[in-house]
Amino acid sequence: MAHFSYLTPEQQEALRKTADAIVSPGKGILAADESTGTMGKRFADIGVENTEENRRQYRQMLFTCDNEMSNYISGVILFHETVYQKADDGTPFVKLLQDKGIIPGIKVDTGVVDLLGTDGETTTQGLDDLKKRCDQYYKDGCRFAKWRCVLKIRERTPSQLAILENANVLARYASCCQQAGIVPIVEPEILPDGDHDLERCQKVTEKVLAAVYKALSDHHVYLEGTLLKPNMVTHGQACKTPATPQEIARATVTALQRTVPPAMPGVVFLSGGQSEEEASVNLNAINQYQGKKPWALTFSYGRALQASALKAWGGKKENLDAGRKEFLKRAKANSEAALGKYGGGVQGAAAESTLFIKDHAY
Ligand code: 13P
Repeated sequence: MAHFSYLTPEQQEALRKTADAIVSPGKGILAADESTGTMGKRFADIGVENTEENRRQYRQMLFTCDNEMSNYISGVILFHETVYQKADDGTPFVKLLQDKGIIPGIKVDTGVVDLLGTDGETTTQGLDDLKKRCDQYYKDGCRFAKWRCVLKIRERTPSQLAILENANVLARYASCCQQAGIVPIVEPEILPDGDHDLERCQKVTEKVLAAVYKALSDHHVYLEGTLLKPNMVTHGQACKTPATPQEIARATVTALQRTVPPAMPGVVFLSGGQSEEEASVNLNAINQYQGKKPWALTFSYGRALQASALKAWGGKKENLDAGRKEFLKRAKANSEAALGKYGGGVQGAAAESTLFIKDHAY
């Protein structure tokens, strides 16, 4: 096999160490990689203008929580702009995180585009120059990346085309990242939009994940140096027969057991429009579920870690501590949930609010 180019044992070891550190017990990821446009929507909800300075102030609030943060958060996914921003005292955000023992990550996809001839299905762009961009992000301190693909449950979707195309593009992305020493988080998100039931979501999730792992194998991706960021298996947002957290846990773990190799170290779920409290309770139920679970099962939440913090902050300097407090409450709840020890009922400024956004883009 020596005539094939492959990652050296040293490269593999470095990737494995990063992936393992991110999913060490009771820790998970803060997804703070909202694009400028998405940040605009979050800010509009609280009446804050979407300027670079306000985005810097907001992210600074999160990243300057006291060191308690590192008990719960192992990694933060950043948007390009944020990688190069600094705190008021001139410390780069990347260094602020590193000093807390938190690993900086970077969103590297450039968004979704329509697949011609499908029922509104998409693929994700950003492969051109990806290896070069990853090399630069590595130099600038990032050690893991995220790439989001989107699949939709409708009467005739996801189509075979969308499943195969998105699996392949995720595998190409993963291969570029690993060549640059960056752990790829593989994210095939099946949106919660629709009135489908839990069983339909489970079937679709199994087909999508099976295709993703076939493609990762085809592309010689080193699984020990990757993480998976899937949707939990839930009923559709408009389903008339909602499932319980225990049913969601059973369906989610079963879908993963059937498709995700044990060599892959950790599943970092997205929150996908669940309320903060639902996302914590469901993650807890998943970890309490009795069954084979050869991977860490933890969180990589965006909305479900930030909704209360955003609301409490409201763009005001005098609310920075209140915002940090709300963020730490949710981070702690999710840390406990990742250990199956969340008792539930942590109140917050927006803990129960629905965070569902139709046809969500990131
Ligand atoms: P949500 O937790 O808000 O779904 O976002 C996580 C994420 O990074 C989606 O790409």
